[in-house]
Amino acid sequence: MVLGNYKAVCAARAADANIRNGAQDGGIVTAMFAYALEAGIIDGAIVAGPGEKPWQPEPTIATTVDELLAARGTKYNICPNMAMIKEATRSYGLDKIGIVGTPCQMQALRKAQLYPIGVRSVPDKIALAIGIFCMENFPYDGMKAIVEDHCNVPMQSLAKVDIGKGKFWAYTNRGAVTQIPLKETHKYEQPGCHVCLDYVANLADVSTGSVGSPDGWSTVFVRTAKGETIWGQAAKAGVFEVQDIGSVQPGLALVEKLANQKISGNQKYIEQRAGYGIGKTLNNPYI
Ligand code: FAD
Ligand code: SF4
Repeated sequence: MVLGNYKAVCAARAADANIRNGAQDGGIVTAMFAYALEAGIIDGAIVAGPGEKPWQPEPTIATTVDELLAARGTKYNICPNMAMIKEATRSYGLDKIGIVGTPCQMQALRKAQLYPIGVRSVPDKIALAIGIFCMENFPYDGMKAIVEDHCNVPMQSLAKVDIGKGKFWAYTNRGAVTQIPLKETHKYEQPGCHVCLDYVANLADVSTGSVGSPDGWSTVFVRTAKGETIWGQAAKAGVFEVQDIGSVQPGLALVEKLANQKISGNQKYIEQRAGYGIGKTLNNPYI
């Protein structure tokens, strides 16, 4: 149950090396939106595009493949993509919207579709929702402190950031790599992330992350009928290289282990807070 409902799971990567090169992992998000755009399944996608400060993303509506490419890669700070859903229909006139987001953003999206208060123009226009796995996130200044003060890398020199194998990694444009243990980054996490009970974006049409698959590949859950149709069409068109998840290392067991760790750890925190009278003990279906 910690992995949510899904119809299929696999390891995959974009067949197009040009997409993969600037992508965070296997380029699944960018390749799937690019396919959906070109096939007319979506007429734009809400992504985390470049913002004013280095590595501070801004919710952006991409209506071309070039704009999707410019938004590749994970920015480890908050990008309120949901804030653009109304704008997407009103200012951009999109009828078929793609959106990428963290598990909490997928929850907000589904709530907005169920109870469209203030977003009446949106519910039936969400054509493809891609979720990304998420253990934690940081405010911009927190991420900046990690990169500049702990990794000793100026934000302007940063080429990529990653969290994996128990470490925070900072890669520079000149090829230097710095890693620090996650125990140094915990204090910068958003407090809201400590009450979050979804690791793998259970409510997305398709959700993806690096965990479970080899470097450069992604683990992909195909969750809804819509996701299954679009994923199937894209795979048939040769957009992805796909491997059986059972044939790769470390495999699904690691995804399950980390999902369990997040859910049970955060559930304990929720109960601790309830002891102080903050919030209620949730009826958690996972444990
Ligand atoms: P790409 O083709 O590179 O595209 C990435 C897409 O995500 C782009 O459209 C980009 O605009 C969008 N995006 C980037 N940053 C954000 C953001 N902050 N908010 C919303 N959208 C964004 N994966 C794991 O396996 N384990 C984890 O614990 C984990 N934690 C994560 C925490 C955060 C805060 C984020 C943002 C991602 C996390 N991921 C995690 C997901 C992982 O880093 C990749 O984003 C995912 O594998 C997609 O890679 P890709 O190569 O398919 O995507
Ligand atoms: Fe959202 Fe949860 Fe990720 Fe925090 S940990 S950004 S609340 S999905």
